[in-house]
Amino acid sequence: MEIEIEGLCKNYVSDGKSFRALDNINLTIPANQFFTLLGPSGCGKTTLLRCIVGLETPDEGEIRIGGEVVWSKAKGIAVPPEKRGLGMVFQTYAIWPHMTVFDNIAYPLQVRGERKDVIREKVARTLKFVQLEGVEHRSATKLSGGQQQRVALARALVAEPKVILFDEPLSNLDAKLREETRKELRQFLNELNITAIYVTHDRVEALALSDSIAVMRSGHIIEIGSPQKIYFNADHRFVADFIGRANQISAKIARQENGLTVVDCGLGSIQCQSRDLEPGAEATLCIRPEFVRVTSHAPEAGQNIFRGTIASLEFVGEVYEAEILTGRERLLARIDPDVQVTEGDTVSISLDPAHCLLLSA
Ligand code: ATP
Repeated sequence: MEIEIEGLCKNYVSDGKSFRALDNINLTIPANQFFTLLGPSGCGKTTLLRCIVGLETPDEGEIRIGGEVVWSKAKGIAVPPEKRGLGMVFQTYAIWPHMTVFDNIAYPLQVRGERKDVIREKVARTLKFVQLEGVEHRSATKLSGGQQQRVALARALVAEPKVILFDEPLSNLDAKLREETRKELRQFLNELNITAIYVTHDRVEALALSDSIAVMRSGHIIEIGSPQKIYFNADHRFVADFIGRANQISAKIARQENGLTVVDCGLGSIQCQSRDLEPGAEATLCIRPEFVRVTSHAPEAGQNIFRGTIASLEFVGEVYEAEILTGRERLLARIDPDVQVTEGDTVSISLDPAHCLLLSA
């Protein structure tokens, strides 16, 4: 089901001072998408999620779910949370320790007053779906962290919501389990025709799970796009920086040439992806470390090829991370272990113009 948000504002009052946590949010989340709200701590992700669910009352704007207005200041409409047809999974799982797995999952159906045999059938189906068959009579808190998260997911899904919302659901799991649970979650949701809204500050989670990502900062949505768009082709410096490590270099537009934009910067004259910017305009050249190509043999002459010196080298698992001094810049690069280099070496660096992104200053 599609979710539309128009002109949404939310202020909090604390110590007598008003603070704007959401500032004129406009957003359409297409039906059946996995949509992520990503941003640093305090940017307003949870507040936006809680406004959609109905746990927080906005100050301005309108929220529609499947075309139906669930909250509108102008129209004086405020549908209560339990009537919005949404399921929610929290960071803390919020499962009840004194109940069995079965009772935890059955709870939303019991509250709705469904018949016992219907509840049994629906819980059994959901247990099967989240692969928890056989543990339904155990106390929910006797399960592993990953299993408890699946109980929370099952409880959100059992009532067949139109939309499911997640608030940092994996952040209490250790790194390995978080990765496994993330894959499971993607697999489960792929099998359902459901809209999912997912809040996280973890960029890898956002990239791995989402169809679309909205990057937020200080109560605003800065940019929305597919994971690939946000990672490779961000329009904003903040977004490019937040979604992954990037070399950001001050540059000045020199000219347009053969469908590319040439800039002058601390690396010299560099051909970049085409951007419609006037000569003389200031820009930021953004290059991901994995696209800084480093070879140990003598540099050939050519466009976007130059020399550098390895200032530091760190082995981080699959690759080496290097800092390379070149021209007036210090470039971060990821180097394959089969490229034989050590600290102090002079190396050749080449940059593919397709991966030299220009962001307006
Ligand atoms: P995090 O990732 O840390 O959970 P977030 O992006 O989800 O952050 P929110 O929890 O939505 O951010 O908070 C947005 C801003 O509103 C923060 O500055 C927060 O301190 C403030 N805030 C949130 N809830 C309240 C409240 N009940 N009263 C006053 N201020 C609040």
